[in-house]
Amino acid sequence: MTSPQIVRGSCLCGAVAFELEGDLTPIQLCHAERCRKATGAAMAPEMLAPAAGLRFVRGEDQITRYEAPLLDTPPAYRRAFCRNCGSPMPQPIEGTPFAGVSPGVLDDDPGTRPFRHAFCAQSAPWATPTDELPRFDGRPPRPRNMGPGPGEASG
Ligand SMILES: [Zn+2]
Repeated sequence: MTSPQIVRGSCLCGAVAFELEGDLTPIQLCHAERCRKATGAAMAPEMLAPAAGLRFVRGEDQITRYEAPLLDTPPAYRRAFCRNCGSPMPQPIEGTPFAGVSPGVLDDDPGTRPFRHAFCAQSAPWATPTDELPRFDGRPPRPRNMGPGPGEASG
């Protein structure tokens, strides 16, 4: 599946809007405790976009960041979100050509779909996967040509 040329996204309150240009990765569903805390959801959908193709249309100055304490090895777990409404916003991933994107904030169909579950050992007891997608107890192997996997800094 190929990505549309421009994929638009915005936060809940509308203060922040952005566009993504370039190929987007499939969507990883991350069950890591930190991702659950950050989203309040059973699992956090996450994908990568080329960082060079991330453009904020408005409200970039409304984005604030949280960096969680390092658990074992870098990179640290970072979240970017609208300071007004808390929607997770895209952010470049340090040391990579990618930006991490939470596809739930997209306004357009990104053209890609979920392809695996990550950090299933940390799944909430009420949210074990029931679909046919591959499951990984921890961080899945890095797919070829994908750079660091989505959620590389999870867990
Ligand atoms: Zn907002």
